[in-house]
Amino acid sequence: MPRRSSKKAKAENTELRALKKELLFVKFQLKKQKLTNQLTVQRNEKEIQKLNAIRESILTKHRLEQEWEMNQKEIVRETRQELEYQEFIYNMNIVVQKKYEKEMLKKEQEVTRQLERRNKELKDALDNGISIKPWKQCGRCFEEFGEKGVRVPKVLECGHTLCVGCLKQIAQPYSIECPFDGLVTDLDEKKTIDTLPKNFIVFNM
Ligand SMILES: [Zn+2]
Ligand SMILES: [Zn+2]
Repeated sequence: MPRRSSKKAKAENTELRALKKELLFVKFQLKKQKLTNQLTVQRNEKEIQKLNAIRESILTKHRLEQEWEMNQKEIVRETRQELEYQEFIYNMNIVVQKKYEKEMLKKEQEVTRQLERRNKELKDALDNGISIKPWKQCGRCFEEFGEKGVRVPKVLECGHTLCVGCLKQIAQPYSIECPFDGLVTDLDEKKTIDTLPKNFIVFNM
């Protein structure tokens, strides 16, 4: 029996060794698998990071596109406002221009009427053989100067003489611009059209 037993023991030993070997192999396999898993996890993490970066860049691009679109809309809106404003100014200018042209036309018509009247007077005078003394007439309205009222001749600082009526028509609040040479005679509370010197020479020639 001891032989048998020894044989049995030997067999058991062999089996044990085989088991140990298998165990080692399995352990090794597990280690290998663990390592592989770790590598896979790392790879996956890197992949996820990459995908996140791509997602982030897409989102950023999208946001920039939206911002750009909004900016474009804002530019279009501002441009439209600017155009509307310019059109408004343009229309206003036309209104002002028309008003100005109307006033200029009125003034021109008035001057034309005065010249026509003067022409007629000269023609009448020639026809009647009456000598004309131009200095006895206001050089602006061609009315004959008078000793009283609006036809009184007054001398401006430049030396030109005009009737009170004309001076009142062309006077600004504090100045009169001579219609013959553009020189300005200043006025104030004390110095008015009434206090300007009267031109007596007109009556004495
Ligand atoms: Zn006059
Ligand atoms: Zn003058």
